[in-house]
Amino acid sequence: MIADFRSDTVTKPTEGMLKAMMQAQVGDDVFREDPSVNLLEKKMADLFGMEAALWCASGTMSNQVAISTHTRPGDEVICEQESHVYYYEGGGIAFNAGCQSRTLVGDRGKINASQILTCINPDDPHRAHTALVCLENTSNRGGGSCYDIKEIIKIKELCDLHGLILHLDGARLFNALVATQETARNYGDAFHSISVCFNKGLGCPAGSVLLGSEKFIRQAIRKRKVFGGGLRQAGYLAATALYALENHVERLATDHLHARQIGEALQRHPGVKMVLPVETNLVIFELGDGRDPQDFIKKLREKNILLLTISNKRLRMVTHLDIKPEMVEHFVTTLRNLE
Ligand SMILES: *Cc1c(COP(=O)(O)O)cnc(C)c1O
Repeated sequence: MIADFRSDTVTKPTEGMLKAMMQAQVGDDVFREDPSVNLLEKKMADLFGMEAALWCASGTMSNQVAISTHTRPGDEVICEQESHVYYYEGGGIAFNAGCQSRTLVGDRGKINASQILTCINPDDPHRAHTALVCLENTSNRGGGSCYDIKEIIKIKELCDLHGLILHLDGARLFNALVATQETARNYGDAFHSISVCFNKGLGCPAGSVLLGSEKFIRQAIRKRKVFGGGLRQAGYLAATALYALENHVERLATDHLHARQIGEALQRHPGVKMVLPVETNLVIFELGDGRDPQDFIKKLREKNILLLTISNKRLRMVTHLDIKPEMVEHFVTTLRNLE
């Protein structure tokens, strides 16, 4: 038994999910005739109180479709310096949208309204046109941190005042909703567009949903096509997301409990210098001076425990659907016996 804490993307479909795929009603989604895709999009739009939705093959595709739909080449996009849209999407803001990024240093990945205000360019032909603000909730490199909805509302008001579009990279938004007890509708009200991943903690093999206005989604469909993301019988994948919405959302609380247990065990270990506060399913930590992260990873690998580094110093553990309580216990015991 391997306890794979490297990422919540490593989950494999459960038996129930596979059955849902086998029984899925499908059609050609490029013709917009796939009943499973259409049902998923309708359910997600209703849940968030947004006009329309679009299934995309990955979270990166949803974000990139959104950014390039909201902007024109030469525009500026405001985001956090380690946000996924900037840090992990292969330079897509520049490559796909032709935009430049204005990055801010956040607090565990979160930026605030007063920081954003300082980055909005004046209407001056020397300066790039500030078009879009991207937030990330939960923040990946921020260790699964969650925004306070009050700050998001402040940011939305600032964006409205300055005619800016506000997009949410909500790859792990369901983790945030479960952890903070906020409603999906509060989020739907605050953003022009939201991307949500199904291939992370929700346990699907692939897929993401992009939410927004009817007009935005109509334009986004063309972008998705341009990106090569018009999939035909995508309903087999949409069926996994429908299954996950019913069966895998509330259980995210278990992942959060497991992550807290891991965080506490790390905190107790004399070789661990720092653990970021654990709010959801990500645990980011640093070892004490002189300790080699690769050596730590190797020792745990020998005990069938997998984890990753996310920088020279920082390590990451992620809990998800395939992490069972015994695996968390196995880690806690192994760590206790590790010098
Ligand atoms: C995983 C992730 C994405 C999208 O990743 P894909 O692998 O392309 O689905 C987007 N944003 C954040 C914060 C993520 O963690």
